[in-house]
Amino acid sequence: MYWERYTHHRIKERILQALKENINYNEYPILGVPATYLDEEEFYPDAPFLENAPFMQTLIANPNHIGVHTLDNGRSLKIFKGTQAIERELIEIVSEQVFQGEPKQQDGYIASGGTEANIQAVWIYRNYFQKEFGAAPHEIGVVYSDDTHYSIPKAANLLGLPSIIIPVEESSRLIQQEALEAKITEANEQGVRYFIIISNLSTTMFGSVDPVNVYTDFFVKHKLPFKLHIDGAFGGFIFPFVNRDPLYSFKNPHVTSIATDGHKMLQAPYGTGIFMIRKGYFDYVVTPQAQYIPGLDYTLCGSRSGANAVAVWMILRRYGSEGWKAKMEELLYRTDDLCASLDELGVKYYRHPNINIVAIRAEYVPVALAQKYFLVADSYQRAPKWWKIVVMPHVRQGFIDRFLEELAIHIKSKEMQL
Ligand SMILES: *Cc1c(COP(=O)(O)O)cnc(C)c1O
Repeated sequence: MYWERYTHHRIKERILQALKENINYNEYPILGVPATYLDEEEFYPDAPFLENAPFMQTLIANPNHIGVHTLDNGRSLKIFKGTQAIERELIEIVSEQVFQGEPKQQDGYIASGGTEANIQAVWIYRNYFQKEFGAAPHEIGVVYSDDTHYSIPKAANLLGLPSIIIPVEESSRLIQQEALEAKITEANEQGVRYFIIISNLSTTMFGSVDPVNVYTDFFVKHKLPFKLHIDGAFGGFIFPFVNRDPLYSFKNPHVTSIATDGHKMLQAPYGTGIFMIRKGYFDYVVTPQAQYIPGLDYTLCGSRSGANAVAVWMILRRYGSEGWKAKMEELLYRTDDLCASLDELGVKYYRHPNINIVAIRAEYVPVALAQKYFLVADSYQRAPKWWKIVVMPHVRQGFIDRFLEELAIHIKSKEMQL
């Protein structure tokens, strides 16, 4: 994995150049496009601080990245070709360097978030099974673990597909071979013939990572047609930097698409989900009625801000691959420290070694303490079984230490009562 780190100066020059390559609403006779720069009464383009703020300049120029710009039909809206090239470079970095894809063999775009990227995947595969196999929606099942993010049942609901939910083992949070077999056999008997598998590259609640091969070994062995999507919305910018297992990348031939989020680990603004898929699949969701878009439309969202792509590119370029890796390793060391302290206190928790989430068994944490430190529960609809800590960059060591001190006092007082 390698991409170069740029200086602030170089980043700024590249963005300003891209904005120049876009057609500027001020200088060209753009008569037919229902788009323009941001309202200049409120967002005045000559504010002095803008000179050194390329992201804000992009916001004000307001390029629309509607469509998918990695598709080589060369027919994206020419007006925004400068910033579209930045998005293309960004998709290449993430799909090829982070997720080990072959050069120029993936398409992708910046979606509104992980939710949209996941729905986009399920939408593509539903249409794929309909078109290539004549499948009816009730014959196409969406397979996912019990710990999967709710965007997946949302996708199944929107697209009218049955869900096949695989239970996980209580303490390892792993799907079990036997449970998978039982659930798939049952679905098969109910007429499900085609499968859309969602494999978590870290669940949101636990940071657990689904063993992709448990899924693929089973489906290959039984010759069941499937497509597999990796939901890396949470773990996509941390796991691959410390674990290069090809199973969770485009090196694995069973993986057709991957989603990750710029607005979680990467600290990009909201609106920066990243959807990536092997070439050839976007055609299943082309909307031919999008006749007024030169390159047609293949995305769920339609119009979207080019500034979002620029922001993600800027962050990746600012760190380079080595800098980002170092930053993620630092977060993981701090998570290791937290776990070591919990071990000393005899507190039980779940943690995957490549992920910065620690889910603590609820019986060890008084509710008031969990609330004071904004821990997140696995459920607010019933009594929580787990409270999680996510060691994000803002989670300062001092906060963790104070939480641990209070937890220690609570545990000691409980021991004295016994
Ligand atoms: C956050 C998350 C999502 C949804 O992402 P949004 O950006 O909130 O739409 C999907 N899957 C996982 C695993 C997540 O952690």
